[in-house]
Amino acid sequence: MKESDPVKSLIRAFKTLPQVGDKTALKYVQAVVRGKQNEARHLAKALLDVASSVHECVLCGNFATEELCEVCADPKRDKSVVCVVEGLEDLLALETAGGFQGVYHLLGGLVNPIRGVGPKELRLQPLGERVARGAVNEIILALPPTTEGEFTVHYVMEMLQGGASVTLSRMAMGVPYGSQISFLDAKTLKAALEHRIDVFFPTDPALNARG
Ligand SMILES: [Zn+2]
Repeated sequence: MKESDPVKSLIRAFKTLPQVGDKTALKYVQAVVRGKQNEARHLAKALLDVASSVHECVLCGNFATEELCEVCADPKRDKSVVCVVEGLEDLLALETAGGFQGVYHLLGGLVNPIRGVGPKELRLQPLGERVARGAVNEIILALPPTTEGEFTVHYVMEMLQGGASVTLSRMAMGVPYGSQISFLDAKTLKAALEHRIDVFFPTDPALNARG
């Protein structure tokens, strides 16, 4: 039996998604073929709806249907406290945990030299611009305690050093080394944010005062 073009075309389309190779794309096509036409129509409509109405928040990088996402547009949130996270999963985990009244900044990944992800591939510059505008008083680094997380913390600190004065802190309690932020349970996450620890820049006089 000759493979028809619609199948090839759908396989190609699925393969544009992250981490989808030939095998997975073929499985998806099989599911569409076996599924009812209504399901395929629903999937196609949902894809088009998201593609046409959802984009990244101009401030934090979260999903948004307006210029600002729901968090950034919320007048009750403290815009001077910015929690820096790897991505959307972590933002959702922290929002589900509740208790955080500030806003977020999504980096869109972590620095990973092995995979060729440098600071320029992340949304580090927009974070620097937010700080430079002077509206940020505190930055909480909610980045995972992994090698990539540590690399990223290093670049964030390097970028902020010598710039506008901000308090820098990191999530502390109950975050085991190597863990992913979004895998932590709500209670642990809430405690880790509440018991955050201050981070000092190497040239910060406060560090010398402590030493
Ligand atoms: Zn936002």
